[in-house]
Amino acid sequence: MTRPLPEKFRSRSRPSQLFRLAGPKMPAGGDFCCLHCRGFVSADPMLSGVKNRNHCPYCLWSRHLDMYQAGDRLAVCRAPMRPLGLSLKPGRNRYAPHQAGELMLVHVCQACGKVSLNRVAADDDAGQLMAVYRDSLALSSSETARFAALGVWVLGDQDRSTVYQRLQEVGYGEKV
Ligand SMILES: [Zn+2]
Ligand SMILES: [Zn+2]
Repeated sequence: MTRPLPEKFRSRSRPSQLFRLAGPKMPAGGDFCCLHCRGFVSADPMLSGVKNRNHCPYCLWSRHLDMYQAGDRLAVCRAPMRPLGLSLKPGRNRYAPHQAGELMLVHVCQACGKVSLNRVAADDDAGQLMAVYRDSLALSSSETARFAALGVWVLGDQDRSTVYQRLQEVGYGEKV
């Protein structure tokens, strides 16, 4: 006959918070697996510096979670959103909106084309941010015009120094 192990030797099989994976529905602000690179993304605000993490810090792709009317009910798009460029948070000066605020990522939904601006998080991959910026320099003028029509100013070649400066301000200095 075996006696049960004393409490201190028993394994604690409580599921770790770290591996609490989101199910088919991604809860707002919850941990998730990136649709694009399959990386595990923690929603811990201590890591991201933002309250609601809405994109992957490794590949910077996001996911479209807006509600829209599908037939007679509300549905969520859920399609991947590609990081297409960098922008700055619009400021109060409407005549020079691009001279304002913090660095933002411009995301475009791959299914419905919805454009959204999202704050750069503290642990976003700096090399990847630079790659998104470099790729965005090849955007066609009709694409940037489409963003401009939506009030989204995509940073271009003339904004290079601003981009470097903003990345340094948020602590990317040594990595850029
Ligand atoms: Zn990813
Ligand atoms: Zn969409």
